[in-house]
Amino acid sequence: MEYVLPLQRLIEKFCTLRGVGHKTAVRYAFSVLDMSEEEAAEFAEALISAKRDICPCAVCGNLSVGGSCSVCSDAARDAGVICVVEDSRAVMAIEKVKEYTGLYHVLGGVISPMDNVGPDQLRIKELLARINNTNVRELIIATNPNVEGETTAMYLSKLVAPLGIKVTRLA
Ligand code: ZN
Repeated sequence: MEYVLPLQRLIEKFCTLRGVGHKTAVRYAFSVLDMSEEEAAEFAEALISAKRDICPCAVCGNLSVGGSCSVCSDAARDAGVICVVEDSRAVMAIEKVKEYTGLYHVLGGVISPMDNVGPDQLRIKELLARINNTNVRELIIATNPNVEGETTAMYLSKLVAPLGIKVTRLA
């Protein structure tokens, strides 16, 4: 026996989420059925709003709600230091420690020939433009300590070497 169609459809949608298998999807779908109509509408609206209202920061590529992100628009941050990370989750992780006072640059991934990701698919041009147009004195490369992260770190180090700024590898 199959689930009624709208439920089947909901289960299929939950199945598309990373890390969610069929059993979990069924559990999620039934939790939705347990919601009041108002709760379900709020749930759906949160989903739509996250997609509609969040866009990359025009400066660093971090997640933001319009214009520049909270880090870039904070005048107390040290604009002379840029920490290069793979994604916004890495920004959150570093911000949690509350020790870093510089700015960020989110690459949007790492160089990975197996996944067809080369330097052109990452926000590297934007990084070079920032270094050329602002008074950056130090670049901290904080890509993950795996093969792709190291490859990307090496690539960036070589690329910015002629620009005469300090480069630190943080892993
Ligand atoms: Zn930003």
